[in-house]
Amino acid sequence: MEIYLDANATTPVLPQAKAAAIQAMVEAYGNPSSVHCTGLKARALMDDVRALAQRLLDTGSGRLLFVSGATEGIQTAVLSALNALRERREAGETIGAQLLYGATEHKAVPEALRHWNAVLGLDLAIREIPVDRQGRHDLAFVRAEALSAGLVCTMAANNETGVISDLAGIETALDASGSRAYWMVDGVQALGKLPLRLSHTRIDYAPFSGHKLYAPKGIGLLYVRDGAPFTPLMAGGGQEGALRSGTENMSGIAALGAVLAALENTADRTFRTHAELTAFRDRLAAALRAAFPGMVFNAPLELSLPTTLNFSVPGLGSRVLQDLFDAADVRVSGGSACSSAKAAPSFVLQAMGLPDWQTEGAVRMSIGPAVDEAFIAEACARIEACGESLRRHCMSPTDNLPSVGDGLSRFMAGGACCYLLADASSRRCVLIDPLPEQVSRLAQVLRCQSYQLSAVLSSSGDPAHAAARRALCAELPDLMDATDAIDGFGWPQGRSELDLGSRRLRRVSLDRGGQACLLWEGEGRAQCSVAFVAPEDAEALADRIGPQTLIAPPTDEAQMLCTIPGRVGVEDHDAPCLQLPGAQLQQFADAHPDAILVDVREPYEQFLSHTPDLAGMAMEAVPLSRILNAIPGWLVAQRPLLFFCRSGNRSRQAAQALARLGHRQAWTLAGGLALLPEAPATIPAAAADAAVREVVSA
Ligand code: PLP
Repeated sequence: MEIYLDANATTPVLPQAKAAAIQAMVEAYGNPSSVHCTGLKARALMDDVRALAQRLLDTGSGRLLFVSGATEGIQTAVLSALNALRERREAGETIGAQLLYGATEHKAVPEALRHWNAVLGLDLAIREIPVDRQGRHDLAFVRAEALSAGLVCTMAANNETGVISDLAGIETALDASGSRAYWMVDGVQALGKLPLRLSHTRIDYAPFSGHKLYAPKGIGLLYVRDGAPFTPLMAGGGQEGALRSGTENMSGIAALGAVLAALENTADRTFRTHAELTAFRDRLAAALRAAFPGMVFNAPLELSLPTTLNFSVPGLGSRVLQDLFDAADVRVSGGSACSSAKAAPSFVLQAMGLPDWQTEGAVRMSIGPAVDEAFIAEACARIEACGESLRRHCMSPTDNLPSVGDGLSRFMAGGACCYLLADASSRRCVLIDPLPEQVSRLAQVLRCQSYQLSAVLSSSGDPAHAAARRALCAELPDLMDATDAIDGFGWPQGRSELDLGSRRLRRVSLDRGGQACLLWEGEGRAQCSVAFVAPEDAEALADRIGPQTLIAPPTDEAQMLCTIPGRVGVEDHDAPCLQLPGAQLQQFADAHPDAILVDVREPYEQFLSHTPDLAGMAMEAVPLSRILNAIPGWLVAQRPLLFFCRSGNRSRQAAQALARLGHRQAWTLAGGLALLPEAPATIPAAAADAAVREVVSA
């Protein structure tokens, strides 16, 4: 069963809302503008839903329009206010010279301001209202700046953090400043969670969205205060009193009506009370604290909606956490947008002044107000299982269980690659190019696996690598080899070779600066197996490396993983690779009986999800971070390989890399496990049991 904890992004549709939508489509399908009986019934339904919404939002004499969603509502409000400012200016009036919006507003707001400011030729300054460390608007700024503002935009509650704005404080500041600015309040995340008595405020415009509260996508509301200026965004057939033309979305309106009816009729217990939601939130927060020691909440819980938790875990990026939760069938969202190789920081958390590791690693967990006790209990159990998986795989600071990781592991930080070369037999290891932000994670791995760190090498002499080395020395004084003086590349003074069990590392200085590190493995050491060097420098090593030596680059923004000498400079990292749609799995298995399925998810993900039985094929677990160890064998054997992961992204990287290296039969499972008809449904017994034991013994 999926545990959906991303309600601030969207919600499922309530059963009664679905039934109402179907009824509106199949039976009450009239056009509310038609004057015959079928049309009249549709109009009556629409009028009822509007009246219900007006009661719930206490709109008084204000108007409430049906729109497609909040983005449309925001456009309409901004267009209306800015067009009125333009008209007033043209009439010779002095208007506010700036447009103000909260620094943590949804992007729809500043983008709409920029768009309509340009389209209407207003050319007003657009400025952010700063927020404090808690995510609340700077009221002194509002008081000081509102007098010269034409429009002020603030939100009722933030979508990333759940922080509730002090709307009464903003209103007092606007009044105190003597400002005549129009005021738009984005009410999207507040609907159904906070009481809003719009007619008791000076709010001019308030947009709402149905799909954030169990109605379908494509229906929303816009409140317009009586007397606030209005310019239609859409002209046409004159629907909604000619304020919003276009035949109304009747199935959406009917569904929204069913949701609002449940909200009004508190006795039917569809929605939880504020106190119940707060208790649920506190249980989730406690589960998170227990599962991820050291985690921090990025916004004060007492100032936030009881339905939103935003947190970061030191040493674990937002992508790692999202993969982890997804493996446990728990859907959360990154507090920030992720580009292909690098997690972009959350602008909301940046505006609050939080440090980089928090803004880049944030995860948002949000519940809808219709969740129940069983759902929260299951969510907490899954969170505990995620924590257990991290502990087992040396990713959590407590209770680590040693696991062996012989060979090469790659750790990414942004686009930079750090390599850990470990020799299980001698329990010694070497790090190449670590960065300071990776230190706590690396230290955790080494401590939990009891590896002695023989050297921390740098391929470029970058001072960040030396800083990471110093930090590792401080964190692992007992696990660092005592070395005499080292040079700027981390090598013991005067040495050019390091032995690591049966492996040997040798350094080679490069003409254009920096160093390559070459790895020889096995008894004969006939050939260099891996060269840690930028691909463009590999040519200079032609006499020292073989045609099949893997070139492991110091940076990998393009997600190439590795290359070999003959392929250096081939710019085909986006080359089409063999894609297998999930529906063709059985055919593939029949056609390739010798194929190997390769699970490239990380061990902490594999632990949490059932190993899917994909058409009975032979299976290997080779996490992407350790794929360099397996590539040489695959290239020799040339057996068909079908890579899979959660979403198809990492498996595509693996299949493309193999294809580039000359493997002729490397496929990726397109869309990953997520698109398979029978995606793993529950966390496996092992993880659940372990989590339960953990709770019992705690
Ligand atoms: N405002 C806020 C605070 C939101 O969270 C969202 C959606 O994420 C929007 C506006 C845009 O809403 P819609 O998807 O209805 O256009």
